[in-house]
Amino acid sequence: MEVNDTTFGSRLVSPDAMMGDAEYSLRPHTLEEYIGQEKAKDNLSIYLEAAKMRGEPLDHLLLYGPPGLGKTTLATIVAHEMGVQIRITSGPAIEKPGDLAALLTNLEAGDVLFIDEIHRLSRQVEEVLYPALEDYALDIMIGKGPSAQSIRINLPKFTLIGATTRAGQLTSPLRDRFGVLLKLELYSPEELATIIRRSADILGIDCTADGALALARCSRGTPRVANRLLKRVRDFAQVRGSGIIDAQAAKMALRHMDIDEEGLDQLDRSVLRGIIEVYGGGPVGLDTLAALLGEEAVTLEDVCEPYLMQLGYLTRTPRGRCVTQAAYEHLGLKVPGRLQDDEIHQLSME
Ligand code: ADP
Repeated sequence: MEVNDTTFGSRLVSPDAMMGDAEYSLRPHTLEEYIGQEKAKDNLSIYLEAAKMRGEPLDHLLLYGPPGLGKTTLATIVAHEMGVQIRITSGPAIEKPGDLAALLTNLEAGDVLFIDEIHRLSRQVEEVLYPALEDYALDIMIGKGPSAQSIRINLPKFTLIGATTRAGQLTSPLRDRFGVLLKLELYSPEELATIIRRSADILGIDCTADGALALARCSRGTPRVANRLLKRVRDFAQVRGSGIIDAQAAKMALRHMDIDEEGLDQLDRSVLRGIIEVYGGGPVGLDTLAALLGEEAVTLEDVCEPYLMQLGYLTRTPRGRCVTQAAYEHLGLKVPGRLQDDEIHQLSME
């Protein structure tokens, strides 16, 4: 059983986790240092304070939102604020009920168990989790057939923090067992610029305010992407420039990396182009589009789509994905009359 299931992303703007330490050093350790997500943070600070006043562990917490937005970070902050230990694992790493039982029986009172990608837990593992969450107990079957016996083992009171990019894929019995559900939103460029400046300070990189903002605008609303861009742009600034990241250095580096002024990379642009050039602007089903581009459907759905939709370049309809007039304009393509008519129709309805 693996305990940390992070992978390197091949795209520069991929929000896949970077390996351990590099990311660890940039992680905020307190709620105060955690930038943005004001609504989630405000609520969480109340729940934390109330739990501390009662001397109880925090209720089980589900964090959901696209990858790289700070779910793992928030879980480590909760453990830090409660003064307890955190065990980090992920849904696919817990293969058998026995793996989960081993994790649970090793927890100490108050500890946080963090399960990333919790929607990928198997049904059998989930069944073991239910009594653990509700009654802090493990039901273990001994023997087989008519002589089988169930034994109950009591567990210390703990907090489960589940993270998922797809809250909709969680089974409802599991979702219902979380006392607190917090949704993380994409960050604004200003928030990302603050994150970039903080990371630059930690890494000893000279980055001006306008340089940070230029990078922030291309970071797809995602802190992990922002931190990764900062490190790569530093390389360009060192080798090709003065070593300082200002707006000009940022723009030069982003151009070299094929990332446009809205933060779209080649994959994003080929999603839009694919829909336009092969399917006349859509609608097209996700799997068909993934096959056309030779990409995994989950990558398109979790990584490309949230950002393209936030920019207003893509819409999801019951019949499939469609691009908008803005997408044609962004790519410098002629907008078809059909879309212009739709837009005029929409304006007249408003
Ligand atoms: P997730 O678990 O949602 O995929 P992480 O918690 O691993 O994302 O966050 C990715 C990186 O982004 C972390 O290394 C952290 O440095 C940075 N980060 C995330 N959220 C914030 C934040 N609110 N403030 C500052 N840095 C953040």
